[in-house]
Amino acid sequence: MINALIDPTLLKTGSYLNGKWLVDSENTIKVTNPATGEILTTLHTSNEQDAKDSIVAANKAFQQWKDTSVKTRFNLLKKWFDLIVANKQDLATIMTLEQGKPFDESIGEVEYGASYVEWFAEEAKRVYGDVINLPGQDRQGLVIRQPIGVVAAITPWNFPNAMITRKAAPALAAGCTIIIKPASETPLSALALAELANRAGIPAGVINIIVGKSRELGKVFTDSSTVRKLTFTGSTPVGKILMKQCADTVKRTSMELGGNAPLIVFDDADIDKAIDATIASKYRNSGQTCICANRILVQDTIYQTFVTKLKDKVKEFRLGNGIDKTTTHGPLVSENAANDVNNLVQQAVSQGAKVEIGGKISPLGNCYFEPTILTNLNPKMDIFREEIFGPVASIFTFSTEQEAIEMANDTEFGLASYVFTNNIGRAWRMATKIEYGMVGINEIAIGSEMIPFGGVKESGNGREGSKYGLEDYTEMKYICLGGLAG
Ligand code: NAP
Repeated sequence: MINALIDPTLLKTGSYLNGKWLVDSENTIKVTNPATGEILTTLHTSNEQDAKDSIVAANKAFQQWKDTSVKTRFNLLKKWFDLIVANKQDLATIMTLEQGKPFDESIGEVEYGASYVEWFAEEAKRVYGDVINLPGQDRQGLVIRQPIGVVAAITPWNFPNAMITRKAAPALAAGCTIIIKPASETPLSALALAELANRAGIPAGVINIIVGKSRELGKVFTDSSTVRKLTFTGSTPVGKILMKQCADTVKRTSMELGGNAPLIVFDDADIDKAIDATIASKYRNSGQTCICANRILVQDTIYQTFVTKLKDKVKEFRLGNGIDKTTTHGPLVSENAANDVNNLVQQAVSQGAKVEIGGKISPLGNCYFEPTILTNLNPKMDIFREEIFGPVASIFTFSTEQEAIEMANDTEFGLASYVFTNNIGRAWRMATKIEYGMVGINEIAIGSEMIPFGGVKESGNGREGSKYGLEDYTEMKYICLGGLAG
């Protein structure tokens, strides 16, 4: 793997705690390339004691970091941003090798991840408060925002770079310090980011990355009363466990959890635009995206045309190794992931689904699942309820606007949703009546560092990005300033 990098020193082999690389532990994990099965590197993992040490270090660093001037934080974050951009080729190579997504998508994610660092560098200057004119002449009310303290973050493998920057950057901008546990499948992207943070001059203990057994390390963080916030991106079942574990210390949580996004196409929409949007939303990152269209709901009057046109486009995909420039869609992150998708598809077929294209693990290898379209579906099937997390478009049909709303809301999830219609009244009605944190109207490219990303219902709480993303790392304090009358 080292040979694939312009700067091989970005490849790290152990946790980064308190400014040091821990590379002497006897416990190790192997990081593999899902496209080839090749072992990329062997990583030294950290244990519970390291996690406890990281909390002490992050807390010590917090005592200084919280009092640094916002200009200092801006400058350091800006340097980190510049280094991420300067090293984007290598960061994208590392990502494609450990996660599988096509190289151009990895470049896109590195740029997207960097955008959070740039945004929150600026936002560090915009932590505002309020002045409240209290009754009487001798008192004034002030509301200030202060950094929440030591933050622990647990992140997933589907966006190994951006899910880290969109937590670390606002935490640091607000004056918090952070300990991040990345997913075991994709730790190398996280460690390369830590190396760049180190080069940017971010002080020891301010950013820490710990690699190891998730349950053990997670428990150390949730049990600690020094850790004042847990921010998690991952599945809803794990999010629920972590929220329960955080209850004993009444920790603040931000939970970016699973989704079951409806993509609703009405017969008054521009069908070709809706098809292109469906392709981009459903099959990006081979369907391993929390905001992927999970249920495609198409009005019955255009259903057949939609399926035929979609199929023609999916036939053109080139499944393969993401490092190969001609590949449009890569493998899934692991054999387990491919097996899970396969089981879900076979279950749907046994319940009556029709496979229009694809439908099985590809001869290319055990991590590859063929781009798939399923029809003849109904809301009673499991595939209507489950997050697919693979390149499988499941297409349902509806006849009325009311039915579309009911189908969209018939899930415990509420992250992203998409509506395609050229009727402005319908667009507004849909946007306000469907229960989601984010709604794209005639648009699926909804992500950006400038918007509040997050969900409702069992898709989580808190928002990442935008001005709201910084607030999530601050505590509000009210000060009553008395004795003002002369
Ligand atoms: P996951 O299984 O929940 O794992 C996420 C992270 O949690 C990993 O770092 C994992 O570590 C760790 N973990 C697992 N069990 C744990 C436990 N008991 N205690 C502490 N940590 C634990 O999810 P995933 O399969 O990696 O990611 C896919 C999920 O993330 C999907 O549901 C997707 O929708 C969601 N997601 C949501 C958003 C959003 O913004 N809402 C964004 C991206 C992804 P190990 O890897 O070491 O097991």
